[in-house]
Amino acid sequence: MQYEKIEVGKRKKIALVAHDGRKKDLLEWASYNEETLRQHVLFATGTTGAIISRELGLDIKSFRSGPLGGDMQIGARIVEGDIDFLVFFWDPLQPQPHDPDVKALLRIAVLRNIPTACNRATADFMISSPLMSGEYERLVVDYGSRIKRPS
Ligand code: PGA
Repeated sequence: MQYEKIEVGKRKKIALVAHDGRKKDLLEWASYNEETLRQHVLFATGTTGAIISRELGLDIKSFRSGPLGGDMQIGARIVEGDIDFLVFFWDPLQPQPHDPDVKALLRIAVLRNIPTACNRATADFMISSPLMSGEYERLVVDYGSRIKRPS
């Protein structure tokens, strides 16, 4: 298998996204982990970012609101290598108008081998990993070499 090797620095580029039914959960998690989050570079979809920066005073670059394209902006940043850690509390009980975008973001996160937490327990394990404060070599499968193109 061929891999692309991507260096992830000590300062992680973390994206935070929560659907409306999960925003309180994400805010509580972010509040508990505020000091750790402060050591990293934070991104978020519009409303999630507005709530977390207002409540915790964290410096966050917010994109558009999720239903207005924010998930796709985060997905694009992942592809560009500008985001390397995703906390995405999607709502398992509520259909979303932007379900295709949600699926696309989760797909691209798997494709690019991005550590992704979709619930608090996973987010707790990820943020307390020793890898959070160190460097990491992320391997991304070189799917390009496997795609057959007509000659
Ligand atoms: P929001 O978007 O933070 O703007 O609410 C989240 C989402 O629905 O993906």
